[in-house]
Amino acid sequence: MQGTVEIEIINTGSELMLGFVLNTHQQWLCRQLADAGYTVARQTAVPDTGLDIQQTVREALARADLLIVTGGLGPTSDDLTRDLIAALLGRKLHTDPAILAHLGDFFAQRGRPMPAQTQVQAQIPEGALVLPNPNGTAPGLAMEVSPNPFRAGGKTSWLIMLPGPPRELRPMFTDQVLPLLRQKLPLTSAFICRTIRTTGIGESIVEEKIAAQLQPLTAAGLELGYCAHYGEVDVRLVARGANAEKLAAEGEAIIRDRLGSHIFGTQDDQLNATVVRLLTERKETLALAESCTGGFVANRITDVPGASAVFLGGMVTYSNEVKQKLLGVRPETLAQHGAVSEATAREMAEGARTRLGADYAIAITGIAGPTGGTESKPVGTVFIALATTRHTIVLNPINRYDRPTFKQITCQQALELLRRTLLKH
Ligand code: ATP
Repeated sequence: MQGTVEIEIINTGSELMLGFVLNTHQQWLCRQLADAGYTVARQTAVPDTGLDIQQTVREALARADLLIVTGGLGPTSDDLTRDLIAALLGRKLHTDPAILAHLGDFFAQRGRPMPAQTQVQAQIPEGALVLPNPNGTAPGLAMEVSPNPFRAGGKTSWLIMLPGPPRELRPMFTDQVLPLLRQKLPLTSAFICRTIRTTGIGESIVEEKIAAQLQPLTAAGLELGYCAHYGEVDVRLVARGANAEKLAAEGEAIIRDRLGSHIFGTQDDQLNATVVRLLTERKETLALAESCTGGFVANRITDVPGASAVFLGGMVTYSNEVKQKLLGVRPETLAQHGAVSEATAREMAEGARTRLGADYAIAITGIAGPTGGTESKPVGTVFIALATTRHTIVLNPINRYDRPTFKQITCQQALELLRRTLLKH
């Protein structure tokens, strides 16, 4: 039994190096391990060349209690991981009859002849545990490297090889690797990782508000991290050992006190889901009238299961004519103030709310850029209006970013305006 387990991950695949495939295994495996209380010390990605794979595995085995290697277990000529690791550890390969039978069934069920090369996947290094693959052909492999020739004192390491396709790797990890890990490398000391999600406040202000108050806890071992993305700032608390629960709970209480309503959730909570939940609880409805975000807010809302209970509909009203026709924006308003103006945003929101019969309507009009800005209305100018049964509120941020970021940030501000309004009602 040990307090911490030194874990390393090696992802193999030349496609990762060429940028053709995003290395999602790194993030996914780290997150699963962290949720189970284990933290990864090092991640490496290497191309499918023998020298790179063997050298990286040898280096990692000199440090790690657990090494996870992904990819390269398949039947093609670039799938070298199993053979290279067996050679590195001086283990002979033998054919496993159960895997061979599984491969035969796999092809028979699909009515296809089994290519001869497929059989290499039934080759197992001496002493390896087989992790069956119900979702593909290549099994995973787990090996106890004992004594470990690359580690000081020959200290034992576990080496686990997993297939590359995420739909094969993920269930294999959850169903087979995690139970094996808990059995072979159990943790004795607690580990807590808590994320508190905020919006409407910048990263440095978040730190300014909480760091000093948290100092006694960080001195006592609480780790504090910040992660900013698209108008949100996550505060992450990590605590280990006997006091972990107490440290994390005290830290969270301070953060809640200091950041108050900027907090919209914890862990994997999303702002769109929070807004849909608040509307659902209040049995209230939403309509949208979007111009420069092109339906992005509607997309975010409809990403949430159960959105149909609260979302009546949205209109993408890009031209002046359509703003008049669908939302009832007055020609005088457009002539006097322009399409990107507080007055137009207000009329768009009020028109959407009354025409669709919703409790709330959000309207967005702005200049996403890179062209179209003027001195008085530079690129990034945006008006976000929220019409309620009582009043209409209009925000006027300047979101000067590239177009995709402009849409993300503007959508975030619109959802946050609605969330804050719902909390007050
Ligand atoms: P196969 O039997 O499919 O050949 P394999 O174990 O040999 O399996 P790879 O050939 O390395 O795995 O990868 C198969 C596919 O899995 C890749 O084309 C890619 O789409 C996906 N994949 C591999 N590694 C990763 C990764 N790190 N992150 C996300 N996807 C990956």
